[in-house]
Amino acid sequence: RLQQRVHGTSLEINLNSLTHNYNIYKTKLNPKTKLMVMVKAFAYGGGAVEIANHLQQLKADYLAVAYTDEGISLREEGISLPIMVLNPSPESFSHLVKYSLEPVVYSPSFFRHLGSFCQKNQKKLRIHLDLDTGMNRLGFEENQLDELKALIGIYPELIVASMYTHLVGADEEAHIGFSKTQLNQFSKMADRIIDCLGYRPLLHALNSAGISRFPEYQFDMVRLGIGLYGVEVSGIFADQLKSVSTLKTTISQIKTLKKGDTVGYGRKGVMKRDGKIATIAIGYADGFDRRFSNGKGYVLVHGQKASVIGNVCMDMTMVDITGIDANEGDEVVVYGPGISLEELAVAIGTIPYELLTNISARVKRVYY
Ligand code: PLP
Repeated sequence: RLQQRVHGTSLEINLNSLTHNYNIYKTKLNPKTKLMVMVKAFAYGGGAVEIANHLQQLKADYLAVAYTDEGISLREEGISLPIMVLNPSPESFSHLVKYSLEPVVYSPSFFRHLGSFCQKNQKKLRIHLDLDTGMNRLGFEENQLDELKALIGIYPELIVASMYTHLVGADEEAHIGFSKTQLNQFSKMADRIIDCLGYRPLLHALNSAGISRFPEYQFDMVRLGIGLYGVEVSGIFADQLKSVSTLKTTISQIKTLKKGDTVGYGRKGVMKRDGKIATIAIGYADGFDRRFSNGKGYVLVHGQKASVIGNVCMDMTMVDITGIDANEGDEVVVYGPGISLEELAVAIGTIPYELLTNISARVKRVYY
């Protein structure tokens, strides 16, 4: 149920739309393909605990977070699904064990370090191996696989639950060739480890765009992120997804200005004609990027586009509402249905991921 809003700005998360998107992705998967959902970065800004709870009800197979702390918060709120931790710090080893979190292991030194910790403490831990096929971020390289095989023999406390790779450009057609090379290299690298393990752990490679573009490479599991939250970055089946989150605020004040009047800090906004501006209760401290200043961004006032005029302030932004029939206190849609996050992101040289994950903690999340 929609909770009462006490501050003008809130992020409304429509869990029915999230379920719809979840089911759309399910229909793209082979019946046996498992689904891991990325709930890192506060579930892409949507609220990790609430969304993880919802995914637990939907019977997702796995969750993934970036850091151990994120996993601990989920466990403390009663999330019992398996949780993979992408980038656990060595200081967090005891917490991984205590909270049954499953770390990604990405290098021989990390394997040795974690393995000796578990051996010393007589603990077993399920781990996930990141195989680097071209991202050059984290992960074992091909020439480290013999060392990895030796380590697997030395530290039986570390149980390899899965192996994965990450595509560098599944969203872009230009990278189809490179993605396929990555996927084939992953298969070969994984086979070498499977031979040494004597069993097949789960293999996975596809993110949201990968699910859209390379359905034949689902392996045993996929890792769904931004698509669940309603943004289809490959554009292949964007029209099938529903917008999940709506960032809303209200008009605090309306002013009537004359041609040539300036608006906000540094006199950067200049009225090109006589008109009206509205000051809305959202600023860069809420995650409304300052790069939206001076016409780069817009909001919807009663469904009509109102461009940002002047510089975005910390807690407020001024928008040009000349010709729009609006009153103080009226609702304004900042992100949501009718607004393309991709388009807004491009306008300021970023990606929708950054817009979503930047919505700050002081913006109240409401679920319905
Ligand atoms: N897998 C890994 C390793 C990731 O880092 C991410 C997100 O950055 C994802 C999957 C999900 O990607 P997307 O949100 O594009 O689906």
